Amino acid sequence: MQKIIVAIDGYSACGKSTTAKAVAARLGYSYIDTGAMYRAVTLYFCEHYVSLTNPREVEDALKKIRIHFTYNPALCKSETYLNGLNVEDEIRKMYISAKVSEVSALVPVRREMVKQQQLMGQKKGIVMDGRDIGTFVFPDAELKLFMTADLMVRARRRQMELAGREEFIGIEEILDNLKKRDFIDTTRAENPLTQAKDAYVLDTTNITTEEQVNYVADLANSKTIAKNAVNVNRS
Ligand code: C5P
Repeated sequence: MQKIIVAIDGYSACGKSTTAKAVAARLGYSYIDTGAMYRAVTLYFCEHYVSLTNPREVEDALKKIRIHFTYNPALCKSETYLNGLNVEDEIRKMYISAKVSEVSALVPVRREMVKQQQLMGQKKGIVMDGRDIGTFVFPDAELKLFMTADLMVRARRRQMELAGREEFIGIEEILDNLKKRDFIDTTRAENPLTQAKDAYVLDTTNITTEEQVNYVADLANSKTIAKNAVNVNRS
């Protein structure tokens, strides 16, 4: 059975990662959280005081950054490593969220991350979520989803997620952060967040996680069957 690529794009806190993770587990695919990669770059830039307006500093820093994911069986999830250190918790903090969209709008940062993401998907069998996966990273992905949700619902979800990590942030600050990120992510010059023409739209405002996962997994199964049927007819 040939595998496919599932590309999930959309705004922050719409449930992309939760859905992508669960769908990958059901399909037996790898899950790649590209937001975590941009967050890890942002953490490195913060720790090393890299000036975002100095192209030389940005290029030099990118050469020193190694990002990988390792599955943690105790927590049943994949975790992000930056230069060999587990940064999974650190990159989710609010100070990284406040800076990540500026960092990810930089052309050299995007080019490097997209290159790495394309390598990760070479053999297919992946569920990748982000902002430009179905439009730029894998424009030929067999299944593309565009996820959206009401802004206040997204803010409440993000607030609960942060509280689960012992970070207690007021709703106004979270709303401001989501609006600012949406603006930068959709208006930047390089690979802005847009809905691919052939993407299925999934509005998660009023549906449960299980419904989201069922919807995407069912689509993935039918795309896989269709792909394999085409290949059988050709051979
Ligand atoms: O998905 P998450 O909210 O963790 O992503 C953090 C930020 O990383 C986004 O707001 C966006 O600026 C950036 N990003 C991106 N392209 C991707 C994934 C994330 O620009 N493919």
